[in-house]
Amino acid sequence: MKIIERPSPNFNERVGVSGPDILIMHYTGMQSCEAAVTRLTDPASRVSSHYTVDEDGTVYRHVDEAMRGWHAGVSHWRGASDINSRSLGIEIVNPGHEFGYRAFPDVQIAAVLALGQAIVARHAIPARNVIGHSDIAPGRKTDPGELFPWKHLALAGLGLWVEAKGAQDASLMRPDTGARVGELQRLLVRYGYGLEVTGVYDEPTEIVVGAFQRHFRPARFDGVADAETLAILRALNATLDAVA
Ligand SMILES: [Zn+2]
Repeated sequence: MKIIERPSPNFNERVGVSGPDILIMHYTGMQSCEAAVTRLTDPASRVSSHYTVDEDGTVYRHVDEAMRGWHAGVSHWRGASDINSRSLGIEIVNPGHEFGYRAFPDVQIAAVLALGQAIVARHAIPARNVIGHSDIAPGRKTDPGELFPWKHLALAGLGLWVEAKGAQDASLMRPDTGARVGELQRLLVRYGYGLEVTGVYDEPTEIVVGAFQRHFRPARFDGVADAETLAILRALNATLDAVA
């Protein structure tokens, strides 16, 4: 894979880890690739990613994989909060929800797949840790969004995907309370999401369920935990049991 060097000064040493074990997918959310690359390499912006993938499949490198890029912000995954120290970030060019969210071209996704597979192999990143910015910062971020082809990538070997239909469970939503809400929250936390287990279907729960759906059941991401959402969440957690 040909990679164009566009180095960014926005990085530092990783803290407390020997290397990255999380891969974060973003969209740029800007009007052009050049605008995004300019921002990611501008010392004044204080942001970066390790790579940017343009819509035509061109890959730019900004930060060495050994170093800590500045792409995650305030975020949580599997009990960790300094996600920048533990992760690699790929920015995928798309105007995003603010400037005209649109499908990711096949040639772009093919480049993301090749780059992501090489990264995952180099650092032995587990499939469950190939996630989106919205998974680690559900209240702040919606990227890479519901059009990002997680299923396609997972079937090609990058990330985790399950199909499951729940026929019987009643939906959970605000302002439900009780043991089933607690179980839902526990499963979300166990899978990796940052959420408090309260037994109350509060606003944070609705936001995290929406983020989960954007990734794993993008047909509807309304924050209501319907039977299919619950079934997919259980099936994903069962894959953890299988490898534990
Ligand atoms: Zn992002």
